[in-house]
This record gives sequence, C-alpha cells and structure tokens, in this order.
Amino acid sequence: MEAIVLAGGFGTRLAHVVSDVPKPMAPVCNRPFLRFILDDLQAKGIERVVLAVGYKQEVIRDYFGAHYRGMQIVYSSEDTPLFTGGAIKKALQSCSAERVFVVNGDTFFDVDLHAMQRESAPLVVAVKRMKKFSRYGTVQIEDGRIQAFREKQPCDEGLINGGIYLVNRTILEDYPKDKFSFENEILETKTAEIEMAAVESEGYFIDIGIPEDYAAAQETMKERAPINKAAFFDRDGTINVDIHYLYRPEDLKFIAGMPEFIRKWNDWGYKVIVVTNQAGIARGYYGEKEMRALHRYMNERLAEYGAHIDAFYYCPHHPEITGPCHCRKPEPGMIEDAIREFDLDPAQCILFGDKPWDVEAGEKCGIKSEMIENKENEDASKTKRE
Ligand SMILES: [Zn+2]
Repeated sequence: MEAIVLAGGFGTRLAHVVSDVPKPMAPVCNRPFLRFILDDLQAKGIERVVLAVGYKQEVIRDYFGAHYRGMQIVYSSEDTPLFTGGAIKKALQSCSAERVFVVNGDTFFDVDLHAMQRESAPLVVAVKRMKKFSRYGTVQIEDGRIQAFREKQPCDEGLINGGIYLVNRTILEDYPKDKFSFENEILETKTAEIEMAAVESEGYFIDIGIPEDYAAAQETMKERAPINKAAFFDRDGTINVDIHYLYRPEDLKFIAGMPEFIRKWNDWGYKVIVVTNQAGIARGYYGEKEMRALHRYMNERLAEYGAHIDAFYYCPHHPEITGPCHCRKPEPGMIEDAIREFDLDPAQCILFGDKPWDVEAGEKCGIKSEMIENKENEDASKTKRE
C-alpha cells in the first residue's frame, strides 16, 4: 500500500507558534507532528510513502531520509506552490499503485484504511462526526455517497472531511491543470461527475493548523508517544529456513516453533522487529517490491498463529557491489534506526539471530543478544539453491 502525505504546508495560522519549520514538523510531545502520521500509516500496513514537500523541505528530508520504520520514503518536491491538487498530481508520478492514499500533513485521523479499500468508488473520503463546531466545513452524504461539501458555519452535529482520501490515480492524472486546489476543484466541484464514497470513523482526530488544537495535541497525543521495548529477530535462518536469497512467497518455510515464539513477544507487549541483510537486492536477484511482498505474505502466515512482525528493516547493500554501508550486520545501522524511530529503550530490548554478526550488531547497541541454533538450517544448507 502506498500513501502520499501532503507535507508542503506553510503553517500560516501557526506562524506565531512555530515559525522555523514546515507545519507538519511542528513539535508535538517533543517530536515532529509528521512522525505521528507516519507511525500510524506504518502500523496500518503502508509500505511506501511519497512525501509531497515544498516549504523548508530540507528539514523533512534531513529528519526522515530514505527509510523510516522500514517504509521506503520518496520525496516529491514543488519549487513553486502547486496547491494540494497539483502536489498530489505530481506525487502520483512517484507511485505505482492504481489507488493511492492521500493524507494531509497537518491533520491526524485514526481511520481504518482497509475499510476505505473495500469501497469501490474512485474517490473515498474518511469523515468524522463532530458536535457543536464552527471551524470545519461539512460533508453531505446519502446512501454512503457524498452529495456535497458545505462551507464552514456553526453546526450542531455533522460529518467533517478528515483529510484522508483513497484516490484512483486517473482522477488527477487526467486533470488538465498542474496547479490547483484538490478541495475546491475536485471535492467541492465534481461530486456530480465523480462517485465519492465516505467512510465514517470514530477515531481520534486533530488539526494542528488550528492553534487551540495544536496546544491540545501536546496532552492528547502523549499516549501515542510511548517509550517502547522490542524483540529483534534476524530473518533467514532465524524465523524462516535459510534457503539463500529467499524472495518467492511459495519458498517461505517457518522454522518450527518460531511463529509461536514471536507471538509470545507480541503478547508481552514488545515490538517485534526484523533486521535482515538482503544483499540479494544489490546482486539484482530480486527488488525491494518483491521483498516487501514476501514480508506482507510472512505477516499473513504469522496471523494464522496470532503473531505479527511490527516492522522489517533491511540492508539492500553488498560491500563488493554497492560499497561499505552502516546498515549491513555486523554494523548496527538498522538497529540504531529502529531504536530512534520506535523510541526503544535498548536495556529493555532483546535480539535473536543465528549468526555471530547478528549478535555483534545487537551488542554494539547495548542490546542483550542471543544465538538460536536449529537443525533445520543444517538440513536446508545441504540442498541450498545457489
Ligand atoms: Zn546497508
């Protein structure tokens, strides 16, 4: 699943509170607001994010880089303001999916992305029921289909646009302009032409563009910013039988007892994080897309045991092909990234691997690290594929 996050906001209404960073980077609970959005998307299965950036984009690029929580991060940059519609249209050039989620970078809304995917309309809007408000416009719905977007006015009860959409790419690709407002020219103007479905969610919603909401977020988002503990796992030879350069789902075979073992760490409240050297990518045996599909499949299979992996960190390099890197184990880069991105306390973490370099990488980060030995790897290595 791919998502575009609109992170080019100027932050005009917040200017007196936050002036030196783009609005999505405004601090909430001592971290950039955008992190809450990306953390939420990652936890819901988004694997690739295109950040549509503009104003002070270097602040965002420096912070997130090319990977975050195992998601690939791509930047779509606007040199002159393209407005929301133009920014989405341009960002779509960096997406491969037919339907892409679009998320406002200055609102947070906890919605069920899968429920949105189940709608077949070319444009799906996440909406939230609010009471006694005047600062949002409302959405008028009949039989699940959006009839109109109404302007801001005092309202006793109504549905508001939560700023999360699932968009069929052709809607924007075929639009004749490159600079336009998605809200004004698509949502508000085309309800008669384009079928727009609404998915209502009762999840937490906040718009930090509103100074009172921004102030409130410092309290209300605290519980979404905990210090975590994690159980790290190597992948090949630790979770699954090592067949060398595994990438085809049909070749996945769990080592006996591992799904149940992972489930225990899930149940104990640990994040379960995979850190895996994937030199097969550098060697051109498979791409990141195939690898992500395998990881998705792995989680589907683990679900049969009530287990899940929270994130997959991978090193796509090989020193002889791509030069030295800081992520290939025994280097600690992937674990360091996970510690920072998941706010982990290394003293409360543990790592399991089947190779000395797994243990070495973990210990470099101050994490208790253990070797797991298993017979299935020995059996598999006798018949390994080259
Ligand atoms: Zn690497």
